[in-house]
Amino acid sequence: MPELPEVETVKRAIAPMTIDKRITNVFVGSKGLRWPFPRSLESALNGKRCGAPTRRGKYILIPVSKKQVLLIHLGMSGSIRIYPNRPNLKKHDHFALGFEGDDWLVLCDPRRFGFVDLFCESEIESHWLLKNLGPEPLSEDFTVDYLVAQTAGKTCAIKTFLLDQTKVAGIGNIYAAEALFMAGISPRRQAKTIKRARAERLVTAIQSILRKAIDAGGTSLRNHMQPGGEIGYFVQSLQIYGRSGEHCVKCGSIIKEMKQTGRTTFHCSLCQR
Ligand SMILES: [Zn+2]
Repeated sequence: MPELPEVETVKRAIAPMTIDKRITNVFVGSKGLRWPFPRSLESALNGKRCGAPTRRGKYILIPVSKKQVLLIHLGMSGSIRIYPNRPNLKKHDHFALGFEGDDWLVLCDPRRFGFVDLFCESEIESHWLLKNLGPEPLSEDFTVDYLVAQTAGKTCAIKTFLLDQTKVAGIGNIYAAEALFMAGISPRRQAKTIKRARAERLVTAIQSILRKAIDAGGTSLRNHMQPGGEIGYFVQSLQIYGRSGEHCVKCGSIIKEMKQTGRTTFHCSLCQR
């Protein structure tokens, strides 16, 4: 599932095709995604000029004609491909935009858990998907004080806390595991026991891991992006995620795997307390 760095990479990759560019073609699949596409999406977008895309949590937001915002979420399995001319759409391509100059953005989503919405720019703060999102982890709002205050009294596991998009936006299973490993904190530790010293380590770890992944995404865009290649998916050096049975890079003991609220968690029981 794409997390903050992958979505940030997509946002950066599509910026050159959307900024001050007019939409010349719209394809809206008949099936809908997680929810049906907004009514009249095609006519609402066609011919409109777009602006610079932004990202909030795992959502991509593209300004359309200065009055509206196109929201794209990649869900579990969604990916965006870009093409320098009109592509042949495939079975799982459910939404596509052609821009002047014939650049194309195609949303492919085999499991159809993603979604697309179009709403008034004035509703951006109150939109139901955006209004309850917690702070951006790379913003100045995400501080040690914030983390200490938000975890106080919470009996859930710290990993579950990090996945809660209302507490901090954009972190998913991979980066939660990596950040907790880097900070030396057990994913099972109760959130309320995260006091200042651990909170400092965790904020530092989250920010450094996300920054590193965003840099890796940027590198992948410069080096590997082929027309029609999926963007936002890049090989990166994960230290704990997906490595059960392997040796911990810090202490050499065997990395373990467990389930936490239905999600697989990887941890080193020696290094993470
Ligand atoms: Zn270890």
